[in-house]
Amino acid sequence: MKISMRAMILDRPGLPLRLAELPLPQPGPGNVLIEVEACGVCRTDLHLQDGELPHPALPIIPGHEIVGRVLALGSGVAGFRIGQRVGVPWLGWTCGHCRFCAEGRENLCDQARFTGYQIQGGYAEYTTADARYCFSLPDAGDAAALAPLLCAGLIGYRALAMAGDARRLGIYGFGAAAHIVAQVARFQAREFYAFTRSGDDASQEFARGLGASWAGSADQTPPTALDAALIFAPAGQLVPAALRHLAKGGCVVCAGIHMSDIPSFPYSILWGERAIRSVANLTRRDGEEFLSLAPRVPVRTTVQAFPLDAANEALRRLRRGELQGAAVLVMRPRELSASSRHSPT
Ligand SMILES: [Zn+2]
Ligand SMILES: [Zn+2]
Repeated sequence: MKISMRAMILDRPGLPLRLAELPLPQPGPGNVLIEVEACGVCRTDLHLQDGELPHPALPIIPGHEIVGRVLALGSGVAGFRIGQRVGVPWLGWTCGHCRFCAEGRENLCDQARFTGYQIQGGYAEYTTADARYCFSLPDAGDAAALAPLLCAGLIGYRALAMAGDARRLGIYGFGAAAHIVAQVARFQAREFYAFTRSGDDASQEFARGLGASWAGSADQTPPTALDAALIFAPAGQLVPAALRHLAKGGCVVCAGIHMSDIPSFPYSILWGERAIRSVANLTRRDGEEFLSLAPRVPVRTTVQAFPLDAANEALRRLRRGELQGAAVLVMRPRELSASSRHSPT
């Protein structure tokens, strides 16, 4: 077995990631050692790099959409075997006894720790993870295509659930999460209306290709009132913009971990039992539900693959909105050539 690995490290906010050669991590009790096949690049990683998330465990290896193979088991690990493909999500550890954990809301745990933020993540050839928070993944198929399911898919799914039985959905920010949630929404016989940055014709076309009833820019008015709006873009001004398009009783769901300030707005656009809420993290139950639903839709992710050492380029393109679907780091060139757009999951 190798004794060292390559990883991309954030030394401190504001810096680009640094390629480093590190000792192979060892799996402690309850942990698995994973050979990473692919790791998705999430907007949260940009917020981390920009210093918008408090108290990261620096220096940190980002990445919380990890697909890989179990290489070794720490003591006491049950339910996984060597060679099995697993997924590691954002939720990396919870206390198990606080009020929120006890109520089945571990996503709100007061002491929760998160992958690629307080726990070393997947922008690396190997990683370790607490087995209790890992998901089993199908053996077959392209690792890069699976990676975006682990955050974009999961958070999108939780945001969609928050929308209740809303039939007409607005989706603001048509990136990695949106392109997955759109497919689930169509599977559930909902309509969706896609809002992008002004002039982003490519994303609007992408949304129409996934079945959007309408696609336009966020300053445009959709042809019908919306029952709910899911906001995946980190722009606070989208909240009142979305409220203005909501039918009575509708809900705006903010799905990102960070957002610029929300400008003030007249009470009249909230009146009529409209609501605004956020979605925070995920529970393991969300993961199990979504990962069993995804093949039935079936969710087909659009990914753009990058080698590990091009993580800064992937982040830069995400920041500029130059990607359709999701950016994914793949650890081996063999898989880089195999991964493609519209890969089946
Ligand atoms: Zn807890
Ligand atoms: Zn994420």
